[in-house]
Amino acid sequence: MENNCIFCKIANGEIKSDFLYENDNFFVIKDLHPKANTHLLLIPKKHVENLNDFDAVNYGAELISTIQDVTKKLGIESYKTHINTGKDAGQEVFHLHVHILSNVKLT
Ligand code: 5GP
Ligand code: ZN
Repeated sequence: MENNCIFCKIANGEIKSDFLYENDNFFVIKDLHPKANTHLLLIPKKHVENLNDFDAVNYGAELISTIQDVTKKLGIESYKTHINTGKDAGQEVFHLHVHILSNVKLT
């Protein structure tokens, strides 16, 4: 838990948010300001600032398989993913998250 990190607070339930999907190390929520019909954020439960600090050797495969699992569960076959790494690249929340954007409208 990092002080004043919004995604840590969502991860530990301090701020309530609906988890569309959850496993041991990741959870998925809707983006507060969606930029597509469906705009999800896949977030590691453990605080890590961005991709530069992410333990890809131990958790990289699970991050990808979590994207596969959540999109399959929600019936999303076509989607775009992106990760902003660093302020100059547009990162605003400094707790790693993967954007998942789709034209599919969730019911
Ligand atoms: P970044 O620019 O850091 O890659 O993306 C941060 C994203 O987090 C933005 O798309 C923004 O709308 C979203 N966001 C910021 N605060 C919250 C929040 O409290 N709840 C949710 N669900 N999304 C948030
Ligand atoms: Zn955090």
